[in-house]
Amino acid sequence: MTDTAPSNPPPDAADRRAAKPLICYQVDQLPPSNLALYQQARQGMRKLTEITVAPREGGTFEVPAGSFFRIVSVEGAQVGDLNLWYAHDLRERFFSGKTRQLQATHVSTGDRLWSSLPGLRPMATITHDTLDWYGWDEDGAGVHDVIGTRCDPYTNYMLNGVDYHHCCHSNLTRALAAAADIPLTEAELHVHDVMNVFMCTGFTNDSHQYFMKASPVRPGDYIEFFAEIDLLGALSTCPGGDCGSSHSDDSTPCYPLQVEIFQPGAGALQGWISPPRNGYSGTHGT
Ligand SMILES: [Zn+2]
Repeated sequence: MTDTAPSNPPPDAADRRAAKPLICYQVDQLPPSNLALYQQARQGMRKLTEITVAPREGGTFEVPAGSFFRIVSVEGAQVGDLNLWYAHDLRERFFSGKTRQLQATHVSTGDRLWSSLPGLRPMATITHDTLDWYGWDEDGAGVHDVIGTRCDPYTNYMLNGVDYHHCCHSNLTRALAAAADIPLTEAELHVHDVMNVFMCTGFTNDSHQYFMKASPVRPGDYIEFFAEIDLLGALSTCPGGDCGSSHSDDSTPCYPLQVEIFQPGAGALQGWISPPRNGYSGTHGT
C-alpha cells in the first residue's frame, strides 16, 4: 500500500519476530455456554412466523428471549447483512469487533454474538449452521464473517462518484426507521457493523487485504440463532448477491432471504435465565 522503501530491519529482527502468539482473551473463562440445552430445546420447537426480505432491500424482525431464529437461503445464492439490537434499548447493539476477539473472524455453531459496551453480554448463540462443513478453504476464506462492515453509499460515492441507494447500510437504515418509527437520520446512527451472513471472505496472503468470493450458500441452507435477550433484528439482502463479482450496483443477480422465528416446546428451557447486562461498576476509576 506504500511506495516508500521499508526501514532497515534491526540485527535482532528474527528474535523479535519469533515471539509466540497468544490468544488475546482467556476465552475459557467466559460465562459458560448453554449450547447443549439449546440443542435439546430446538428438537421440539415450532415455527411462529416468517418474513421475506426482498432482493436489495432490508427487513426487520423481533425475537423474544428464549426463542430461535433462522436466516434461510431461498431461490438463489445471496449474502445477508445482519444487525441486532436489544429490543428495549437500541443503544445496546451487536458488537462486531469484540465478537471477533472473543470468538473468531468467522462464526458458526456454538459461537456467541456479543453486545456493545456497557451492556457486553451474549445477544445470541448460533445453534445450527448448514455451511459449517466449509471450514477454511485454500484461499484462507471462511463463511459468516464479523470482519467486514457493510456496503454503504458513502464509500461507493467516494469510489464511483454516484449515489446508490440500495447498499446494505441504506437498506438497514430504511428498515429500522420504519420498524422503530424514527426519522432516517436517527435510524442511520443506530446501524452498525454487521455479521456477514453466508458471505465468504478472508484476507489475502500477500497484502492482507479483505477479499470476498462467491458464497457457497444454496437454497435450503440456513444459520440458526438462539435469542439470549429480547432482540430487534434487521437483515439486508446485499446488492452484491453472492458477493462473487461486485457490490453496490443493480447489475448483480440478487435473491430474497427468509427469516423464520421458532418457539421451543414448553419446559424445554428449564433453569435457563436470560443473561444480565455486564457487571462492571461503570465508574471508570472515579
Ligand atoms: Zn452489502
